[in-house]
Amino acid sequence: MNPVWFRNRENIMLKRHSLILIAAVIGLFTLTARADYQPKAERVTDNVYAIVGPLGQRSADNDGLNANFGFIVTPKGVILIDSGASRLGAERIAAAIAQVTDKPVTWVVNTGSQDHRWLGNDYFAGKGAEVIALARTAATQAEYAGQHLDGMKRFLGERMQGTKPLPAPKTLAGDSVTLDLGGETLTLTYTDAHFPGDAWVWLPRRDVMFSGDLVFVDRLLGVLPWSSVKHSRKAFHAMAALKPAHIVPGHGRVCDLAQAQRETGDYYDFLADKVGGAAKEMEPLTATLDRYQDMPQFAHLYNYEDLHRPNMSRAFTEYESQ
Ligand SMILES: [Zn+2]
Repeated sequence: MNPVWFRNRENIMLKRHSLILIAAVIGLFTLTARADYQPKAERVTDNVYAIVGPLGQRSADNDGLNANFGFIVTPKGVILIDSGASRLGAERIAAAIAQVTDKPVTWVVNTGSQDHRWLGNDYFAGKGAEVIALARTAATQAEYAGQHLDGMKRFLGERMQGTKPLPAPKTLAGDSVTLDLGGETLTLTYTDAHFPGDAWVWLPRRDVMFSGDLVFVDRLLGVLPWSSVKHSRKAFHAMAALKPAHIVPGHGRVCDLAQAQRETGDYYDFLADKVGGAAKEMEPLTATLDRYQDMPQFAHLYNYEDLHRPNMSRAFTEYESQ
């Protein structure tokens, strides 16, 4: 046998083996990376828990759970606030609840119509939970279902498989409804803030506010094409008047009212008073955005660089048209 030929062949085989090995390691790494984020429950007070999601974007890694969820353990079962963005996300929320209690999720209450608030409803309904929302929230869920499902497929790919949009089957008429579930009192109030259909859940006996996407801390809130700065500001003031001791915000860590005021309330006031004020005075858009480009009191918030200017621009448009 020609030794040169043999050596070359051996080299090729070696290379092939190492390539296979590298591919296997990458494959394994990808799989484990996807399972990296595991939601974990933290106690807010008494029997009330929060699950605080990561601040970044929806991803296969976090199964779209880049938002906050919460639950209340009652003698008659668990009340879950919001159900996650997919079937797999809902399963991960269920696993986080199971770390705290073996009681079943008896009720799911939705605070909104955006993907991560409700696309896990079908999973919990399949386990016997009653899914509840304000009628206006459920209507918006149905309206945006297709769009949000498509959006999530772009972020999560095949991990969206098995997700069926189920708008809350039990709907409550009116803008503010008080419910008694398992001995807990919950007031569900329409805010129509960050997204049409948004609501908060207030637990008066526990002094806990699940604000839904009305409050963002640690990261700058986003003003979306569907958001209303005017409604958000009004709703924030109404929430502050309740003086909640604990706020589980839509995004960011559990906080008190002072932090919510600094990182959300003050920003809405700024958008309405300064940017909205300039729009009402018919000042030019670009000059207004330039004038308020640097807002040091909000600059520490995650996403500030990306969102601050577009937020001002959308606020300007909203106030300009009034
Ligand atoms: Zn959100």
